[in-house]
Amino acid sequence: MLDVIIIGGGVCGCSLLYELSRYKLGTLLVEKENDIACGTTKANSAIVHAGYDPEPGTEMARFNVEGNALIEQLSKDLDIMYKKIGSLVVGFDDDDRKSIEKLLEKGTKNGVPGLKIIETEALFKMEPNLSRDVKCALYAPSAGIVSPWELAIAQAECAVEGGAKIELECVVAGIKKEKEGWTVSTNKGDFKARFVVNAAGVNSDLISEMAGESKHFSITAKSGEYYILDTTESALVSAVVFPCPSKLGKGVLVSPTVHGNIIVGPDSKDWARGDFSTSAQGLDYVKKNAVRVVPSVNFRASIRNFSGLRADAGREDFIVGESKECPGFFNIAGIKSPGLSSAPSIAREVAKQLHAAGLESKPNPAFVGKRRVRRFKEMSEAEKRAAVKENPLYGTIVCRCETVTEGEIVDALKRPVPPRSLDAVKRRCTPGMGRCQGGFCGPRVLELIQKHLGLKPEAIMKDRAGMFIVTGETKQGGVR
Ligand SMILES: Cc1cc2nc3c(=O)[nH]c(=O)nc-3n(C[C@H](O)[C@H](O)[C@H](O)COP(=O)(O)OP(=O)(O)OC[C@H]3O[C@@H](n4cnc5c(N)ncnc54)[C@H](O)[C@@H]3O)c2cc1C
Repeated sequence: MLDVIIIGGGVCGCSLLYELSRYKLGTLLVEKENDIACGTTKANSAIVHAGYDPEPGTEMARFNVEGNALIEQLSKDLDIMYKKIGSLVVGFDDDDRKSIEKLLEKGTKNGVPGLKIIETEALFKMEPNLSRDVKCALYAPSAGIVSPWELAIAQAECAVEGGAKIELECVVAGIKKEKEGWTVSTNKGDFKARFVVNAAGVNSDLISEMAGESKHFSITAKSGEYYILDTTESALVSAVVFPCPSKLGKGVLVSPTVHGNIIVGPDSKDWARGDFSTSAQGLDYVKKNAVRVVPSVNFRASIRNFSGLRADAGREDFIVGESKECPGFFNIAGIKSPGLSSAPSIAREVAKQLHAAGLESKPNPAFVGKRRVRRFKEMSEAEKRAAVKENPLYGTIVCRCETVTEGEIVDALKRPVPPRSLDAVKRRCTPGMGRCQGGFCGPRVLELIQKHLGLKPEAIMKDRAGMFIVTGETKQGGVR
């Protein structure tokens, strides 16, 4: 029997897997998709929020502020792309100024460091492209940007190296309380564990019901749509720029990404679970609201649109901890924004509660707390030369837009949670993230997956199962 089964390989599930890998335990994470970080974790604003939004006294406030500091440390330890660039909430009139003062008050109560209100002159010096109608802003220097999927993947890789297990394409269909522990039924068979943790994102209400909890929460999927602008636009803003928050959320932001692009979005509307489509209406809303704050956003430089689904449980706090009705079953549910920022702190809390419920806490001698990734683009000329000398595959550029070498892709394919789709490789080392969106390097990456993982080309998806790139040979000797 396992000690813990975690359901869901998003940033929450992977953060918990990493946290538990500190201890000598049998831990399994099951994920229904063909990769981890494939749900909400891969489709959000990627902001490490400072923590002035959540209501003081909530767990959300505590997790956000703690998580913000933990992510900064994790990014150093696990070599995750992260930048502490600060955030601005801008105001246009007296009502906005009142909202900003309220945020300052809440942030101060939540323990957010360095918050201050900035007036126009200093503000325009910081952000010359802001609308001249802006009157003031709340500046939060501790806010940052991160590669959200890398935060999950890096933690999962270390956990697996330290002995944890991950089962992909493993859909949980039933959960049964046994005399001792639980049986989790999946398309890949039954797994038994003393404890079960539900980190299933927009499906967390369904998993809770499977475990026998009465319907104490239900999830509404709330879609948010975005534009990603080419790196040519990277000088547009230097910090994360938000309007004042409203009932719909934190509003349409304009922000740099860690990959050197500009992200613009999101909107917010009820949507179907599993539907990641964008809409003309949603994107129009984003456009209109973004130019109010930064009038010179160049939407002609857009290289990609996408949408993500918030898991909204209709309350002001996350649902985190052991079920009162079903002891031994834990929820990490209703994790809407700032869930990405909070995930490492939520993981620590749940690990603490699991130990309090009887989970062993003997240290794991095989724990892996550090990771290093080689990024050719970031190397100095001397480092590049040395890398090519050591491994000639670093001398072949596969993705021209992002300057990604064959060596980096092959390294990614050998990591502890190997990528099996084009987008899974993209999430690990960025081929296909640039202006041509994989038009040039896609077939080459497919060949490398085929060669190094021994998969048939037809079995290699663009992203999730069913997203075929090639379906078979059109003529003899067609697919190489
Ligand atoms: C538009 C938008 C913008 C956001 N912006 C930010 C931001 O800037 N900063 C921030 O801090 N937060 C932000 N968030 C919130 C943040 O993205 C989420 O809180 C976080 O990603 C949630 O992670 P998770 O692990 O709970 O869920 P997910 O990443 O969705 O992971 C859940 C996993 O469970 C799997 N699963 C579901 N059902 C089953 C099953 N039956 N069997 C097996 N596996 C299953 C899914 O496939 C999925 O991989 C934003 C969210 C959205 C949608």
